[in-house]
Amino acid sequence: MCVEKTPWEQVIDFHGHTCPEISVGFRVAQIAMRELGIRPTPSSELTVTANTHSCALDAFQILNRATYGRGNLLVNETKEHVYHFQYTGTSEGILISIRPELLEHLAEAHIHTSAREKQNKYLEAIQFILGTEETQFCALQKV
Ligand SMILES: [Zn+2]
Repeated sequence: MCVEKTPWEQVIDFHGHTCPEISVGFRVAQIAMRELGIRPTPSSELTVTANTHSCALDAFQILNRATYGRGNLLVNETKEHVYHFQYTGTSEGILISIRPELLEHLAEAHIHTSAREKQNKYLEAIQFILGTEETQFCALQKV
């Protein structure tokens, strides 16, 4: 029997491991799709610009079909978890900024002394990232 993989499984498979940043990307990618809706014309492409390089980018490659190879996934490094999504040929995009409190939680997940502790902290952070209220997760802005 063939069971289709969930979007989360597809992202984790592609990315190669489970980590807090990929869960940030997973959530951001879904919010962007919801806010922007379906592509306006068959030829328009979703362009994603991230303001920091992190594991989160791989979620956009799978869920938003914005790939590094095709040039519609860009990084403009300012060390901020801010993500811009826009369809080509449209005048309005969306800016998604991760809340500073959430980033503190993310930083805490990287402080650990043992492999087991690391795993526990990662799982805790991922649950928090995926489960917290959207208003606590990020700020949305039409641009
Ligand atoms: Zn990762």
